[in-house]
Amino acid sequence: MSSALLIENLVKRFAAGKPAVDGVNFDVPAGEIVVLLGPSGCGKTTTLRCVAGLEHPTGGRISIGGRVVSEPERNLLVSPRERDIGMVFQSYAVWPHMTVKQNVAYPLKHRRNGGGGGDVDTKVRETLELVGLGDYAERPVTSLSGGQMQRVALARSLVYRPQLLLLDEPLSNLDAKLRLRLRDELRRILKQTGMTGLYVTHDQAEAVVLGDRIGVMRDGKLLQMAPPGEIYNRPADSFVANFTGAANVLLGKVLERKGERATIDLGAAGRIEAWTPQPLQAGDKARVALRAENIRLGERGPTNAFTGRVVERRYQGMQTVYDVEFGGQKLEVLELGTAARHQDGEVALTLPPDTCWAYRDEGQSAID
Ligand code: ATP
Repeated sequence: MSSALLIENLVKRFAAGKPAVDGVNFDVPAGEIVVLLGPSGCGKTTTLRCVAGLEHPTGGRISIGGRVVSEPERNLLVSPRERDIGMVFQSYAVWPHMTVKQNVAYPLKHRRNGGGGGDVDTKVRETLELVGLGDYAERPVTSLSGGQMQRVALARSLVYRPQLLLLDEPLSNLDAKLRLRLRDELRRILKQTGMTGLYVTHDQAEAVVLGDRIGVMRDGKLLQMAPPGEIYNRPADSFVANFTGAANVLLGKVLERKGERATIDLGAAGRIEAWTPQPLQAGDKARVALRAENIRLGERGPTNAFTGRVVERRYQGMQTVYDVEFGGQKLEVLELGTAARHQDGEVALTLPPDTCWAYRDEGQSAID
């Protein structure tokens, strides 16, 4: 499948010092939605704005639909208008003096490439139906709620069928309930139109629901680009593991590694078998990341079975969170279900090896 968007070694430097975007590479095949996810300041918005043509990259190459739109080394820069892209931002960019219908028809009437001909009214009607605003065509846009205005902005970007849709935190101005609803609907709408999308957010749940692939960024670098299931179950980096919710970290030293399997010495807690994406070597300091929901309490499995102590439990109705101590280290364990099954005190504990992820520990924190 051809790439609707190809980003090669993208660099954007605003001033002396660390670049805001630092050698980013990825592609988005036609019809796929890629989400850039990361904390504030990681460079995701700058990456998107470079694709839009709103920032001038310092280096690298961006191609949309096989056509190079930015390559500073060759002084090549195509203007935003000429890129055949649609954009939806956090703020509802709608024309306040127009009706819903006039807003959505606007790009068809004023763009050079106004959606490949056809009847404007039909296109507007179909697009309004698609975003759930079929009955609102004649309303003044200012009479709509925030969520509805964002649907208008989306319709206006979809109506002329751009090659690529760029979305920058489009749900973040909405209240929590609406945000969830529009999130699920947005995926349906994008998939129904076969649109290729690049979506920027700091919200993991949004990334998982919307993305065919998620790219996790930190300090201007793309750490991992993979389908959501892989990001969640095979994080390539300890930051990715932590950012996507693996709250537990056990500190130790590598005893042995064979391929993707490592044995880690946790000191007083014993030895643990773990999966690793990194070429760890015997003697390296290691951090083992684990999700609270992957730990089995009250079970003695074939590998990584230990005995711990429940020191605190927090019953939350649908789930219970336990603080468990073992070998001088601490774990948070989450069990789904409406009953808190374990009492304070000694408890069997299994850490399934596939859910223990070992990374090199660059800090001073490992056991000695
Ligand atoms: P947020 O979610 O807060 O927008 P982000 O991950 O999208 O964060 P960017 O907005 O891309 O991050 O910013 C990346 C880095 O570039 C930050 O350190 C930011 O301060 C810097 N930066 C962004 N725009 C400019 C600018 N116009 N001039 C100078 N520095 C900038």
